[in-house]
Amino acid sequence: MLKKDSPHLIASVNPEICMAAANNPELREFLLAANLGLPDGIGIVLASRLRGGSIRQRITGIDFMQALVGLAAREGKTIFLFGAAEGVAEAAADNLCRQFPGLKVAGTHHGYLPSEQESDVARIILSSGADMVFVGLGSPRQELFLAAHGKATGARVLMVVGGSFDVLAGRLQRAPEIYQKLGLEWLYRLLQQPSRIKRFLALPKFLPLVIIKKN
Ligand code: UDP
Repeated sequence: MLKKDSPHLIASVNPEICMAAANNPELREFLLAANLGLPDGIGIVLASRLRGGSIRQRITGIDFMQALVGLAAREGKTIFLFGAAEGVAEAAADNLCRQFPGLKVAGTHHGYLPSEQESDVARIILSSGADMVFVGLGSPRQELFLAAHGKATGARVLMVVGGSFDVLAGRLQRAPEIYQKLGLEWLYRLLQQPSRIKRFLALPKFLPLVIIKKN
């Protein structure tokens, strides 16, 4: 159950992060501490099917973020966007304000800074009074930021969002709906950014582990 003084942590779970967590205790702790783990990857849906679980569809971070931002706009809660290149979080915030009239943005900050300065960003977020914080620094940096500084931001909802600000700012195209419906969004993103090939190599290692691991 959510403790009164602890923020609500939302993680995105995919095969790559599961494999990385096996060798990274802090990342593993973050995933286990999360109040909600979104099945953000077709590999997680497959894993659930293989283990007789009940996950039947992906929930992408960007869709969930937009739902939360809509809720924030309706409830008068404020949001803070931290991450991506200079100017991207602002552009994403502007587009979100157009999409959700009445939305209050407490602030934004780019994500290209030395890790020693991350605590300064947590202080900036705290003084902005943001209710919800979305962190798009890439994995595992975004998870480790929230593990180390999430509480210090003073926000009630903390969520990792990967490269969502680039999409929301219109810098990166989301896959056409047909790819999304067929569970092939990963293929579209791979074609857009071939350097992402490394992350797909996690899947052939992950699925056999899902099958053989007892728990
Ligand atoms: N990023 C950042 N700081 C860094 C490295 C990356 O803010 O030091 C941003 C990058 O600009 C991008 C996001 O983090 O907006 C990560 O994107 P990625 O493709 O890793 O997201 P995912 O694949 O997890 O959705």
